[in-house]
Amino acid sequence: MTARLLIVGPQGSGKGTQGVRIAQAFLVPAISTGDVFRANISEGTELGRQVQAIIEAGNLVPDALTSEVVRDRLAQDDAAAGFLLDGYPRNLAQVADLDAFLDARGETLDAVIELDVAREESIARLTKRAEEQGRTDDTADVIAHRLSIYESETAPILGVYRERGIVDAIDGVGTLDEITERILVALIARGLSPEA
Ligand code: AMP
Repeated sequence: MTARLLIVGPQGSGKGTQGVRIAQAFLVPAISTGDVFRANISEGTELGRQVQAIIEAGNLVPDALTSEVVRDRLAQDDAAAGFLLDGYPRNLAQVADLDAFLDARGETLDAVIELDVAREESIARLTKRAEEQGRTDDTADVIAHRLSIYESETAPILGVYRERGIVDAIDGVGTLDEITERILVALIARGLSPEA
């Protein structure tokens, strides 16, 4: 069935991993703006050159650029029957942009998954990921900076979606399977049925 989903959580909450799993269950594309930017950086595209320094410093890419990337991606055929957005919107201005894109298509979001993980746990996971994957924005200083941006800019978007009654807060501590199960249970309770 159609599902238009959003997953929100601090860096290190596991939202990327869970986002992919939930998208697979609903047979919709997982769209991660962070992944799109990283792919463009490694391919050396014009967009990649524009965003590289911003991402390495742990700052947000300008809204106009980010929203254009998402608008183009949502216009692709595979997003017609739903999608799971990971890492977008990341501030209130992007919420307004997404509302406008979806309005124009006569669509709304079905559910927002809020993945809850304590700050210390996020830092521990990100530090481990830095050792394993060597992401250039996973250094201690940049991690702290990204988490503070999450708290000041991104967390407020949850208030908007809570007012719309579409947020499911999920405990993000547990095994990968346990967390996926919690999310699926919450979505099914909303009347959204996974395909697989
Ligand atoms: P992520 O993989 O979601 O942690 O994203 C990695 C980096 O990409 C972020 O720290 C930002 O620099 C940039 N980025 C990803 N999504 C957005 C967004 N929606 N708005 C602005 N910058 C973003």
